Amino acid sequence: MTLLLPALQSPTGPAASREAVRFGALSLTYGELAAASTALAARIADAGRVAVWATPTPETVIAVVAALRAGVPAVPLNPRTGEAELAHILADSEPTAVLAGPDDVLPPALEKLRRVTVDARAVASEAPEGYGPASEAPEGYGPGEAAAEAPALIVYTSGTTGPPKGAVLPRRAIAASLDALEDAWGWTGNDVLVHALPLFHVHGLILGVLGPLRRGGSLRHLGKFSAEGVARELGSGGTMLFGVPTMYHRLAEVLDTPAGTAERDALARSLTGARLLVSGSAALPVHDHERIAAATGRRVIERYGMTETLMNTGIRADGAPRPGTVGPPLAGVELRLVEEDGSVPAGPEAIGEIQVRGPNLFTGYLNRPDATAAAHTADGWFRTGDVGTVDEDGYVTIVGRKATDLIKSGGYKIGAGEIENVLLGHPGVREAAVTGEADPDLGERVVAWVVAADPDSPPRAEELADHVAGQLAPHKRPRTVHFLDALPRNDLGKIMKRSLHAG
Ligand code: ATP
Ligand code: MG
Repeated sequence: MTLLLPALQSPTGPAASREAVRFGALSLTYGELAAASTALAARIADAGRVAVWATPTPETVIAVVAALRAGVPAVPLNPRTGEAELAHILADSEPTAVLAGPDDVLPPALEKLRRVTVDARAVASEAPEGYGPASEAPEGYGPGEAAAEAPALIVYTSGTTGPPKGAVLPRRAIAASLDALEDAWGWTGNDVLVHALPLFHVHGLILGVLGPLRRGGSLRHLGKFSAEGVARELGSGGTMLFGVPTMYHRLAEVLDTPAGTAERDALARSLTGARLLVSGSAALPVHDHERIAAATGRRVIERYGMTETLMNTGIRADGAPRPGTVGPPLAGVELRLVEEDGSVPAGPEAIGEIQVRGPNLFTGYLNRPDATAAAHTADGWFRTGDVGTVDEDGYVTIVGRKATDLIKSGGYKIGAGEIENVLLGHPGVREAAVTGEADPDLGERVVAWVVAADPDSPPRAEELADHVAGQLAPHKRPRTVHFLDALPRNDLGKIMKRSLHAG
């Protein structure tokens, strides 16, 4: 078993002075991060489980690394979570302490926990003494089978389809998934990641923080996403950008403004010069993919993952990106499609639930043996709940979630994504979501929810109908179009289809 964060085990000499993380004006070297996390690990070694108040700050990085070092499972918390959901997560995960920055104001639900303050500004002064060679580092950080399978992080799912569930992630799964991405993307310690994601989900924390730290690379966090921030950091040494589709949509909008403005041209230049632009967490609309390609000559590559499985598929850095697909399974991941009757459909036209197996999988949902069992087949495959297709080259296309994106209408199975992509191709449409609504004749009928590009003059219904009629078979065309000011989205920009109902 390899170490999860070898670059932080015992950096000495030049390695110790390399930048590990930068958040605005505050940056930490490998030596500083190793020292601070070792010192903090000693303070939490007796905690059974810790919560981390996961703001986008270096404190969160120190806290998570310290928990890994101490062998204490960490539960990252979204600071914007509402009281009820927070209470649910705390009752479920039972942390004994909460790690938070000096200025964080914690809600009442956290007041009964021991508060352990993490202060990144104080770190530089802690550096030389608090930290010793590897042999003096706490044991939980070392190799060993037990440590590899013990819970390292408990990450709650996004709650898109129901209340969030705590996925128990062992170090083995994290290491396996990051290794597979290293292989796919040629990811090395020379990469500088430009990061603007929250730090309480797999994407921002495991890929975005542990990924660079595992390789001895670095990350620069923007705090808050902005096109100017992306242009600035990619234009001054950043090599990779990890984002969610709403961020690439924003970049595409800026790139669509007339050439010649400083902001637009700086963004186009910086994206063109980046080594890798990666999108995940939800489907990247084909229209945004194409707009970015047209303006920069660069293709955003997609990868597909889940809290429970970490990364399943991804386009390789040296592979051929195809808009709308999430690439082949990553190294070590087995993937199959399964029909509702349990059969495995054959041929490139087959469509079925995506099931996966591999060293990247979680060990189960916390306190939910029922849900854990229901999520697995008898022969050990994990049911993703996502429906997809696989082409001759092994490229996977996500049709949608079984629960919310697969519409059964008039005997057809219709994927919402294809219809959304067509709607988004209309210049009058800024955002689109498609759902199924109960219908006495059809079983379900296709309904579209649209945010107009210009709210003062939304596209006319007939105009949209003509547009979709040119590209979609009759059974896929929306029967009703609702106009909204905005689509309901969570912190990762995922559309919360559960809350889209005709009123
Ligand atoms: P919950 O499980 O609580 O309902 P969630 O499934 O949204 O929430 P996550 O684990 O954060 O929670 O998200 C995983 C899901 O995100 C996948 O099952 C898939 O539906 C979607 N997803 C992730 N990456 C992609 C992608 N590249 N394209 C399409 N969908 C994606
Ligand atoms: Mg899920």
